[in-house]
Amino acid sequence: MQFIEALKLRNKLFLLFLLITLGLISIGVMGALNINSMKKNIDALYFGSLVPVTELNEVLQVYHGDLTTVIYKIKSEKISQSQAISKIDNSLMKINKHWNSYESHYKRDMELEYINYVSLEIKVMNNYFIRIMKAGIAGKNLKKLSTDTLEKHTAHINAIIQKLVNYEVEIARHQRKMFLEKYDKLLSQVFTILVLIVLGVLFISYYVFKSIQNDHTKLEIATKKLKRANKKLENVSYTDALTSLHNRRYFNFVYDRELKRAKRTHSNITFMMLDVDYFKQYNDTYGHIEGDAALKTVAKVLKDTLKRPGDFVFRMGGEEFGILLTNTDEDNSSKLAQSICDAVRNKEIKHENSKVNSFLTISIGLVCCIADDALNEEVFITRADTMLYEAKEAGRNRCIMSTDISEAKTTVIKESELNNNQEQRAESFTIKKLEKLSA
Ligand code: GH3
Ligand code: MG
Ligand code: MG
Repeated sequence: MQFIEALKLRNKLFLLFLLITLGLISIGVMGALNINSMKKNIDALYFGSLVPVTELNEVLQVYHGDLTTVIYKIKSEKISQSQAISKIDNSLMKINKHWNSYESHYKRDMELEYINYVSLEIKVMNNYFIRIMKAGIAGKNLKKLSTDTLEKHTAHINAIIQKLVNYEVEIARHQRKMFLEKYDKLLSQVFTILVLIVLGVLFISYYVFKSIQNDHTKLEIATKKLKRANKKLENVSYTDALTSLHNRRYFNFVYDRELKRAKRTHSNITFMMLDVDYFKQYNDTYGHIEGDAALKTVAKVLKDTLKRPGDFVFRMGGEEFGILLTNTDEDNSSKLAQSICDAVRNKEIKHENSKVNSFLTISIGLVCCIADDALNEEVFITRADTMLYEAKEAGRNRCIMSTDISEAKTTVIKESELNNNQEQRAESFTIKKLEKLSA
């Protein structure tokens, strides 16, 4: 069955279809052949046995019934001589017709001898009646006919023909028996062949079906593997290799989705921009490898602090991180920002060249508001950036939050204009300065 496995799915289905069709055709052909053979048998039974017996019985009837009755009727003067002659003539014609018909059927050699004998006896019997007819035509009184002779002749021919009838009946019985035996044999043969065909078709169909099922399972496994690989690939493409946080690419996707969701539900949305303070100096002092390790530590702090399903942490690039919080109000957002600042500082990563602290610190700029349709996505994020800048300007190692997003609801151009003028920006925003961290 290996060749089935090697077939393509389309060919397997075609094979299955072919097998079922062949099975049905074979069953049909077997049935047709069987019916044909049955017909021949019934034909032989009917024409070989039934018709000859009927014809012989007709001959017997004419001798025993018609002709004998005619003679008795003449004797009792129930019919005239001329009527009797005509009836005898008709009866003899009938006998000849039936006997000739009987003789014309197929006969075996062993039967022919007796049949020729019967034929001869019929001629003798017919001649007896012809003599009676001739006597009648010659004007002799037929009333004087001897009934004894008639009875003798009739009994003789009756016995001879009856023997033939019995023989034919016996033959018919034998043929019927043979037919029934043949029929039973044929039936069991047909049944065996049909069972074999059905089993064969089922057997091969099972393998074809199994093979299709295997293909399907393989396909399912391959699809699952492909899905997993795709998921992995997707994860890789959305993950930052150094920190294992989501990357900027994923941020773009999540930011857009969550802002739209917040706008729909008019719920709180918070975005934080984080930046490590004096990180260039850190790299310069401890080297890039240590710098990478410090970034990993910061990432871990963020991961450990933000665990809710609605919190998202991203590495935006370099030593900058982004945090998106959903359904978190101003108070909780500012507390969270503060706790992140504290947690990083409390990791006590030595940074002797930092101008604000002896340990590594971060600055956070955040923006929090209730989202509505007027909120501009780009302005919202730029506002966080601006707040970060403010935090840096204000001495680093701190968080600054903006809750007034009226400008964020206007345009990006306005925002960029604001960026050009720090004074104007400071006036424009309501800036809530969070508790300054201890230096
Ligand atoms: P500030 O407090 O103003 O943010 O000062 P800063 O030194 O942190 O600012 P700046 O943007 O000038 O320096 C960022 C530095 O971060 C520069 C670069 O060497 C470093 N950096 C960026 N990405 C990586 C990184 O993947 N690994 C390491 N080790 N350092 C990085
Ligand atoms: Mg930076
Ligand atoms: Mg920095």
